[in-house]
Amino acid sequence: MINLVLFGPPGAGKGTQSEKLIQKYGFVHISTGDLFRWHTKNDTALGKRVKEIMNSGALVPDEITIAMLKEELDKNPQAKGFLFDGFPRTVPQAEALDTFMKDNGSAIHHIVALEVTEEEVRTRIAKRRSTDNRVDDEEEKLNKRITEYFSKTIHVLPYYKNHGRLHTVHGIGDIDEINKNICAILDR
Ligand code: AMP
Repeated sequence: MINLVLFGPPGAGKGTQSEKLIQKYGFVHISTGDLFRWHTKNDTALGKRVKEIMNSGALVPDEITIAMLKEELDKNPQAKGFLFDGFPRTVPQAEALDTFMKDNGSAIHHIVALEVTEEEVRTRIAKRRSTDNRVDDEEEKLNKRITEYFSKTIHVLPYYKNHGRLHTVHGIGDIDEINKNICAILDR
C-alpha cells in the first residue's frame, strides 16, 4: 500500500495527474477542493460554512478541513492506498495527516511536488475559465489563492523535506511525460 500526496499551486495539474495515477494504481482519491465543492453545491451545513471562504480564494480553516479529511479516511478503511490532492495545505494539516496515517498503522510514503511557474499557472487558469466556470478562478480570487499558496502552503514542503519524503517533478510540458516521471518515483 502506497499513500501519496500530490502537491503544487492551483493549476499545477494535480487533478489531471491524479486521474492517470488512480487508473494505474487504484488509489482512493481524496481532493479536499472537490469535497468542499460537493458540499457547497449540495448546500450542506458544511457547505454553508465554507462557501464564502472558498469563493474569496482563501483557505478554509484547518479545524474544518482536518475534520472533513478524517471523515473521508474513515469511510475508506479498505483502501489500497490514498492519493491526497490539495491536502495538506498547511503544516498543521500535514501533521494531522501523519497522525491519522500512523493511527491506522500506515504512513505517507511519497510527496510529489509539481513545479510550475506562477506565469504558467496564470496562463492555464485563464484557459480553464472558459470551460470550468469556477468562481474562484476569477482574476481577483485567483490572486488570493496564489498568495495563500506562497504564504501558507509552501511551508509544507520543508516539513516533508525534513522527513525525507519529498520528490519534485517538473510540471510543465507533455502530460504523459510528467506522468511517467511521477510513476518512476512510485515504482522505485
Ligand atoms: P482546490 O480545488 O484544491 O484549488 O480547492 C479549492 C478551494 O477549496 C481552496 O481555494 C480553498 O478555499 C478550499 N480548500 C481545498 N483544500 C483545502 C485545504 N487543504 N485547506 C484549506 N482550504 C482548502
